[in-house]
Amino acid sequence: MKTITINGTGKEYRIGKILCIARNYVDHIKELSNETPQAPVIFMKPVTSVIFQGESIVIPPHSNDCHHEAELAVLIGKGGKGIPAGNALEHIAGYGLAIDLTLRDVQTELKKKGLPWDIAKGFDTACPLSGFVTAEAVVDPQDLQIRLAVNGELRQDGHTSLMIHTVAAMISYMSGIFTLEEGDIILTGTPAGVGPVRSGDSIEAEIPGVGQLQINVA
Ligand code: MG
Repeated sequence: MKTITINGTGKEYRIGKILCIARNYVDHIKELSNETPQAPVIFMKPVTSVIFQGESIVIPPHSNDCHHEAELAVLIGKGGKGIPAGNALEHIAGYGLAIDLTLRDVQTELKKKGLPWDIAKGFDTACPLSGFVTAEAVVDPQDLQIRLAVNGELRQDGHTSLMIHTVAAMISYMSGIFTLEEGDIILTGTPAGVGPVRSGDSIEAEIPGVGQLQINVA
């Protein structure tokens, strides 16, 4: 069991399912030469992939190309099904930072064959999470800077205003398919600048006002 306690509150959330959206920033779609999807592309990570500050990323031996994807993470506080976009932000308990680690070489092979991405996205340690702040602490989830540096070199410097599907639209869409429950987490996609991390690297990622994470690759 893995839990999140929002900073400054005593409330503990047991992490449920982790829903992720792919290809949600135009500049990132271009850098991977992907097509812009008609409908959001959704995948999931298992809760066993979550690690926190102080733990290390372990790249599985079946990959030689593990990429970092810094993302805004949303913690659901109030569940629901078929949530209208207009009410969607009321279902959020807090916000944090996630790194959607992706075995790009494995994913590329799976994509070619039309197979699911689970083993490229859901391995142990594939979902580092920062601490979380309350929803009230974030005035507008579409007005946040996202940065990620590897060994001090800035790799990703994006802004949530560049999302194709907003946080509210994502919650509405996802909750039409999957009942959302307290403790579920949504990873909202990554801006441009993704790239490889290797054993011994140090990753620093930050969403100012939301969360920061310093994590090493074992
Ligand atoms: Mg991602």
